[in-house]
Amino acid sequence: MRFDVLTIFPELLESPLQEGIIRRAIRDEQAKVVTHNIRDFATDKHSMTDDRPFGGGEGMVMKPEPIAGALQHVEQAAAKGYVVLLSPQGRPYCQEVAQELSEKDHLVLVCGRYEGVDERIRAHCIDDEISIGDYILTGGELAALVLIDSIIRLIPGVLGCAESAANDTFSRGLLKHPQYTRPRVFDSYEVPDVLLTGDHRAIAEWRFVTSVQRTMATRPALLRNVVFSAQEWKILKKHGLLKSIASHGNRSARAGDDRRKQDKA
Ligand code: SAM
Repeated sequence: MRFDVLTIFPELLESPLQEGIIRRAIRDEQAKVVTHNIRDFATDKHSMTDDRPFGGGEGMVMKPEPIAGALQHVEQAAAKGYVVLLSPQGRPYCQEVAQELSEKDHLVLVCGRYEGVDERIRAHCIDDEISIGDYILTGGELAALVLIDSIIRLIPGVLGCAESAANDTFSRGLLKHPQYTRPRVFDSYEVPDVLLTGDHRAIAEWRFVTSVQRTMATRPALLRNVVFSAQEWKILKKHGLLKSIASHGNRSARAGDDRRKQDKA
């Protein structure tokens, strides 16, 4: 998978790409990240990439020509990719969007600065606009890195254990269960007994239940869309969680209720 990043601060992207899983994926040619300095495509003698806003007001706006020039350069060098503008006004980024974007071969990430990019770039030169959260960064580079990091780990073969991404928090709408490693007792706090039993069924059940409880406690809205299997409904019932799941508006619980009502009628 190829990423082209358009930025006026290419150095900002260097170090995070040189560590851990991302470095390995790039080294093994599972991913390629190319940065382009938008300033190299400036069209005036002072290499300006920003200018004052028409109509007045605070701040500077990124000029359209250098960004358009950089996009054209990428297209000539590596075919047309899927162009994403990083922007606080974009659609919210989440694991589902990461998964969707990981299925593309080539992403072109446009990083804004100052007050953002000229509207004509947003309106005519991009395929998607993504926000990494409801807060304002000084520039799109950190947002681009968030996308690159979260997408690269989804490329098949990048993670050592293929199941790891499939069992991550959010992958099925639940937060992941608590995890423990050695030592068995730390500062008098013990690892839950069940994890030491070697009973795989009991461990899987504990993990499922704690995952549901944890989601209920901190991210209850996620529970609305989780689809539970018949076996999982049984476990939820056994642990007295049915009512709480239904009270969080779980769609499959409601569908089950409706079916039972229909069956009775
Ligand atoms: N004036 C703009 C507004 O109010 O919408 C904010 C501009 S921000 C200071 C500069 C650049 O940082 C943006 O053009 C965008 O590329 C990036 N940026 C800031 N917050 C972001 C976010 N939450 N998600 C993605 N990119 C963001």
